[in-house]
Amino acid sequence: MSRTIHIIGAGLAGLAAAVRLTPLGSKVVVHEATAFAGGRCRSYHDASVGMTIDNGNHLLLSGNRAALEYLHRIGAGQRLVGPAKAEFSFVDLASGERWTLRFNDGRLPFWILDPKRRVPGTRALDYAPLARLLWPSAGKAVGEVIACEGLLYQRLVEPLLLAALNIDAPHGAARLAAAVVRETLAAGGRACRPLIAREGLGATLIEPALAYLQERGAGVRMEHQLRALRLAADRAEVLEFGGEAVTLDANDAVILAVPPYIAASLVHGLTVPTEFRAIVNAHFRIEPAAPMPPILGVLNGTVQWIFAFPGRLSVTISAGDQLIDTQREDLAKTIWNEVARVTGLPATLPPWQIVRERRATFAATPAQDARRPGPITNWRNLVLAGDWTDTGLPATIEGAIRSGNRAADIVASSPDLRR
Ligand SMILES: Cc1cc2nc3c(=O)[nH]c(=O)nc-3n(C[C@H](O)[C@H](O)[C@H](O)COP(=O)(O)OP(=O)(O)OC[C@H]3O[C@@H](n4cnc5c(N)ncnc54)[C@H](O)[C@@H]3O)c2cc1C
Repeated sequence: MSRTIHIIGAGLAGLAAAVRLTPLGSKVVVHEATAFAGGRCRSYHDASVGMTIDNGNHLLLSGNRAALEYLHRIGAGQRLVGPAKAEFSFVDLASGERWTLRFNDGRLPFWILDPKRRVPGTRALDYAPLARLLWPSAGKAVGEVIACEGLLYQRLVEPLLLAALNIDAPHGAARLAAAVVRETLAAGGRACRPLIAREGLGATLIEPALAYLQERGAGVRMEHQLRALRLAADRAEVLEFGGEAVTLDANDAVILAVPPYIAASLVHGLTVPTEFRAIVNAHFRIEPAAPMPPILGVLNGTVQWIFAFPGRLSVTISAGDQLIDTQREDLAKTIWNEVARVTGLPATLPPWQIVRERRATFAATPAQDARRPGPITNWRNLVLAGDWTDTGLPATIEGAIRSGNRAADIVASSPDLRR
């Protein structure tokens, strides 16, 4: 019998599920509350800078296998760009030092043995304790597993974990840090090449997916917010979209790919993460000074990373909760001051925009990590997806896409979903 799979939410988790299910023959309909797809990973035209920008810079790594497979499937595999080798340039605002970390391709970390490749001021032996981060015991925070001090921590571990977990590193769940380290640093330089959506997140990750779905007959309904989910004892029965109710047939299924606070409001009794961390991005319309690496790590400043795009420099500040209430112009000036110092560009503030995402990711603490549910629910035709479900990864594009794939596989493999 033909079945319809309703996917609620057109963020990356929902889109990944739709892209995976559409070729399999079921009817797929994606319902998105807002007027745009992409959720927390989107582009828009910004009047202040007069150009299309992303809500925030998103970095992928060459080891993000699900994200790369998704891009390949939607025909956008070539749209991520990055250096041929895993290289990361840094500048320390306090000391003025500059260096470039150069990982070697293979799993054996020869780069640690080479003073010109490793973190300046560190010795090869300093890296040994990092092994403790590979398989930590359950429920521990990073600060309980490794010493969060010293040059190696300040210049490598902290920037890496702050960016990947979006939380002050010592408070981050060691389990999530371990997954990041295993899939990047420990997997060798081949898995660590930085990849950027140079033409924008929309043109790279979102629009090609929408085109892929449209070409294959999937429905994508924008401004179609799920307002309520009527649940019987063991299955979801009705989707209420405000003025329109969709009754589910016996083997129809629902993938709920909305943020955790929305999922909890639709499905009472669901345990979900309840704390979040912000990410602040600042965008400046200016031609980057040549030569400039595509991404530059900044230590001992407000700025954490500077991304160079054609005609624009964009700054990312993770776990930026303390900046949420700072006056916008003051923040733009503070950030630009640091960018100008680092790049040698004029101190005059160019056209700018600040985008503050208050709930950019769930707070990746051990306690919040423990609140992440798996995809299976008490209702046999209702499956969960989203970066906040228990993927074993922090809230990232890779995690969102894996969660969407997982939900799609569950739905595809069983028309009669049981616990
Ligand atoms: C500023 C910023 C920077 C980031 N940087 C990085 C990075 O560098 N690298 C990285 O890997 N990740 C990064 N992330 C994280 C990444 O963006 C997210 O992990 C990912 O986009 C989450 O996708 P999702 O589909 O799980 O959730 P969402 O993107 O939140 O999608 C949920 C969708 O559901 C919709 N929705 C909500 N309620 C309803 C409803 N009732 N009915 C219908 N639809 C509904 C929403 O509108 C939204 O479109 C960053 C995030 C932010 C905010």
